[in-house]
Amino acid sequence: MDQVDVLVVGAGFAGLRALYRFRSQGHKVLVIEASPDIGGVWYHNGYPGARCDVESYDYSYSFSPELEQDWRWSERYATQPEILRYINHVADRFDLRRDIQFNTRMTNATYDEASATWVIATEGGKSVRAKYLMMCVGQLSATKSPNYPGLSDFKGEVIHSGMWPKHKVDYAGKHVAIIGTGSSGMQMTPIIAKEAKHLTVFQRTANFSIPAANAPVTDEEDRAVKASYRERRERAWNSATGLGFMPNKTSALDVSAEDREKAYEAAWNRLGFGFALTYFDILLKKEANDTAAEFIRKKIASVVDDPVLRDKLTPKGHPFAARRPSVDSGYFQSFNRDNVELADVRESPIVEFTPEGIRTQAKSHAFDMIIFATGFDVFTGSLFKPDIIGRHGMTLKKKWADGPVTHLGIGVSDFPNMFIVVGPGSPSLLSNVMVSTEEQIDWMAGLVQKMQSEGSVEVEAQPEAEKIWGQHINDRVKETLYLSTDSYYNGAEVQGKPRVFMPYSGGVRGYRRILQRCAEEGYSGFSFNKTPAALEDTASLAKV
Ligand code: NAP
Repeated sequence: MDQVDVLVVGAGFAGLRALYRFRSQGHKVLVIEASPDIGGVWYHNGYPGARCDVESYDYSYSFSPELEQDWRWSERYATQPEILRYINHVADRFDLRRDIQFNTRMTNATYDEASATWVIATEGGKSVRAKYLMMCVGQLSATKSPNYPGLSDFKGEVIHSGMWPKHKVDYAGKHVAIIGTGSSGMQMTPIIAKEAKHLTVFQRTANFSIPAANAPVTDEEDRAVKASYRERRERAWNSATGLGFMPNKTSALDVSAEDREKAYEAAWNRLGFGFALTYFDILLKKEANDTAAEFIRKKIASVVDDPVLRDKLTPKGHPFAARRPSVDSGYFQSFNRDNVELADVRESPIVEFTPEGIRTQAKSHAFDMIIFATGFDVFTGSLFKPDIIGRHGMTLKKKWADGPVTHLGIGVSDFPNMFIVVGPGSPSLLSNVMVSTEEQIDWMAGLVQKMQSEGSVEVEAQPEAEKIWGQHINDRVKETLYLSTDSYYNGAEVQGKPRVFMPYSGGVRGYRRILQRCAEEGYSGFSFNKTPAALEDTASLAKV
């Protein structure tokens, strides 16, 4: 059986960063990746229009100033192919591929209590023993498709946005359906609309969206960013979202309607996600939120010609940004085209798939291709795919049957020497995930260094610390509007999933401080053992 110090699961941005960091620290690291190449979600989400909602300069690694200086982003918001080129460049530049095994899916990981190591088994029958198990499996990687009656009868092509095929998908002359209007559906709609003969977008919930304000990066802009990249990073690390927007102390309710309109207009045309931070209380107070929501509704109204469509496309019934808003490039305008139709599935639900297409309560639609942009089993889906078996046979699925329980989103009691990167309990999807990823991995590396220096072989989150962290997550989210609606933040995206708010809403800056304090306190809330606890238990039993 192969033996390594650190076994990393997943070769996306987090997995590669973990490999780089732990290898630099002298550890023997192995990354296993189920797919044939690196990139994680960016490998799989090759749908037309896929693009990052975070500005390229911020959605990139900060660990190498040389890399920062050498890489030249072409657009303010990078497309999926450009992001893949970037991550491939990083992998080659730092010679990362030699420690990655592709086409290797972990089926289970079992904690061997006697040796304080993990034994990882893969689909191909391979086993690896590792001191540490790092789960870098992403939050948005377990795709979710509704299981409509007749699905397998459909004669055309069925594609999921999150598992986009590698062959060229041709829409020309075709009748295409997109089911789902989250970020993925909204990004692909304008592009497919231009190529397909006819496009039907099946919408369940109208979503808020902000224009991407994308543009090519000029040489002058590139030089300006690179001249003070550190300061830019510092701003990102010390901002609430990891996007670098400075704290805003003004309430949306303390300014005149005229000034508010001007501020929203300026943010609308340039800031993407930053729009949500125009005033500090947009996500905290319903009345403040209403002002932003109303501004967006007016914007939608100004670009959609048909009044019935306009009404259907207008988000109602949930506060702006309490569900993840999209950042789009011409989504609403697409519905002015003659070849684009909106099918409102609340008004007329999908009854079944047929060999020719989809039958709703209202009518039968014929399609050549149906695209599921129906999202993911978020946060826990990918962590539950393999069986992770900790102390005393406890499985992660059982441990989290009522929702994720963690200390700082990083460690779980009964699962010693296992770290979760940007999973539940961390700022994760409420942040620029790149910032949270690097922050957590560097912190974990510090923890492992401490263990090495003091001769510890086992680290485990303490149940009491998990309770305190869970309470803190709940206390912080109660200050916000996130709980006022169903969303994938609170498990509503999958029927039967525990309804627990999963990410940490206290912000990147606050989280960073908490991690720092925890480290200064000797990694409080974690227990460390120099001999595996199981052996100590046996020794004390022998004495009785
Ligand atoms: P999503 O936001 O979860 O959206 C899924 C969509 O499918 C929703 O409109 C949902 O409707 C709909 N849906 C699900 N089941 C359905 C059903 N049975 N019938 C009809 N409609 C159904 O998924 P996503 O768009 O793939 O995005 C997921 C996340 O990935 C994003 O929020 C973002 O964090 C990330 N992402 C980022 C980017 C980027 O950076 N540019 C791009 C794409 C995705 P309901 O709302 O009613 O549930």
